[in-house]
Amino acid sequence: MYALVELEFKEVFCHDCKTILARYNADYFSDLKVTELTRLHHNTHIKSGHSVRTRLISDKGG
Ligand SMILES: [Zn+2]
Repeated sequence: MYALVELEFKEVFCHDCKTILARYNADYFSDLKVTELTRLHHNTHIKSGHSVRTRLISDKGG
């Protein structure tokens, strides 16, 4: 029996644009880092007052 590798991602989603802005591997990116990167790369959304949220999702491998 093999255990399925379950990858967890932190998905940055803009509710106003209904768009996934970015996905980060949860193993490598802390919440703080994700927040930093979101501010850095997607601040046009934030400045426009868009509702940008981070959510944890998992992809089942295999
Ligand atoms: Zn947006």
